[in-house]
Amino acid sequence: MHELSIAMSIVELAEEEAVRRGAKINAVHLKLGALAGVVTSALQSSYEMACENTPLEGSQLIVEEVPVVVYCPRCRADRLLSSIQFFTCAECGAPTPDVVQGKELEVVALEIQE
Ligand SMILES: [Zn+2]
Repeated sequence: MHELSIAMSIVELAEEEAVRRGAKINAVHLKLGALAGVVTSALQSSYEMACENTPLEGSQLIVEEVPVVVYCPRCRADRLLSSIQFFTCAECGAPTPDVVQGKELEVVALEIQE
């Protein structure tokens, strides 16, 4: 399961940080793009599993979902994508393959217990 390996690498990263700072981590904030190919609910349950028997047990994974933004050549601007199935501008409908954001999968912050 793809989400589990992602969850495990998140936990590994956060665990290293916890050890380095000698602190306990309460929550991990993750930015997740709609095109990252990850199902949020599956990632959440995988995260819980991955935390078992680690210093992160009981911590929370807080997912910030990032919408897909494309560059529209007709509007000459960054626009939201109309849908993930059709790569077209939500404003004018012009097709565009030019993804500006939406592929993110990154840990942006760790909440550390003082
Ligand atoms: Zn457009």
